[in-house]
Amino acid sequence: MTTIPPCSPPTRVLMGPGPSDVPANILAAMSRPTIGHLDPEFLKIMDQIKEMTRSLLGTTNQMTMPMSGTGSAGMETVFVNLIEPGDKVLVCVNGVFGGRMVDVAERCGATVTVVPGDWGRAFTIDQIKAVANADYKIIAIVHAETSTGVLQDLTGLRELADAHGALLLVDAVTSVGGLAVEMDKYGIDALYTGTQKCLSCPPGLAPISLSDRAVAVLENRSTKVASWYLDLSMIRNYWGDQRSYHHTAPINMLYALHEALRTAVNEGLVVREARHRLNADALGAGLEAMGLTRPVPANERLPPLTVVTAPEGVNEGEIRKILLSQYNVEIGGGLGALKGKVWRIGLMGAASTRKNVNTCLSALAGALRQCDYFPPGNPIAAADAVYLSNKQ
Ligand code: PLP
Repeated sequence: MTTIPPCSPPTRVLMGPGPSDVPANILAAMSRPTIGHLDPEFLKIMDQIKEMTRSLLGTTNQMTMPMSGTGSAGMETVFVNLIEPGDKVLVCVNGVFGGRMVDVAERCGATVTVVPGDWGRAFTIDQIKAVANADYKIIAIVHAETSTGVLQDLTGLRELADAHGALLLVDAVTSVGGLAVEMDKYGIDALYTGTQKCLSCPPGLAPISLSDRAVAVLENRSTKVASWYLDLSMIRNYWGDQRSYHHTAPINMLYALHEALRTAVNEGLVVREARHRLNADALGAGLEAMGLTRPVPANERLPPLTVVTAPEGVNEGEIRKILLSQYNVEIGGGLGALKGKVWRIGLMGAASTRKNVNTCLSALAGALRQCDYFPPGNPIAAADAVYLSNKQ
């Protein structure tokens, strides 16, 4: 075999649906010395990770910890630990990730009822009420639907879950770290997220949190959790006081998470959310100046991820290719029902900056011109106007 050179990935501007750009302090944290997963110094790091995660999620839940795996591992963890075969589960589906929850819940043996929603729209409580007609083990919903760019208002869901004797389960993969999630305020029982979106970490960990009510469900199961690797009744003994071995923790990824959480907590969630909202508004104004439209109504848009419709006659895939090859900028295409129709532009975590807004707008305008679409207005001036009005 010939000598293989080291891999040398290019430096991109990651403005898709994730992963988002990882800042230098978080990348550097990963290169600190690997120590043992039961080393007393590592146990201190674990405790700080749990504490900072609670702070970002707005919860006091004891059972709060990162799972080894990406966001989907977080999803499987909450379902596989809370469901027993034959349990009834209600899942709200208005995009790809609601659909994935249905698949996961069914694999755990649940009988799933779907609340169908429109792609690109949030649910109203009445839409969910109209379908819910039984007692459920879980009512599940996506807070930030990355496939459509919709932010779900969680108001009223706790009361609805209570009316059906259900735990409230929320996918917060694209909101945690960018928006205040306020788990306890909204009465969420089970929540999972991922590291590669608004936490600006590489992909690989899935922080989860379970309320005491959800922990009681776990403790009172009559069947074994169907996954050994994700079984919280064992993993809690590593992340809890016993500190007993379950699997070898991904030490250096946890350093990265520690640094990412530290960065977010130090910035403060209020400031962080305001930054995400301001940059999304500026991006949106720039897109509008280019004559582009956003399919999601203004009050349902997800600040970390803007969805914009590709204009008639423009090949959306071709534009993404030009952006990547000529401008080094990655944005996302549509998924599922939106495939080929929209672009998804992320402004997540450390990458939610005015610089990235300007980079993306000018690159997109340039790429569109190459495909014979001539933006009518000046996107940078439109974005600037948003930043200016924010100062007043
Ligand atoms: N849920 C949502 C809302 C997501 O956006 C994603 C990933 O994009 C996932 C779940 C799955 O996460 P992962 O791809 O990290 O497994």
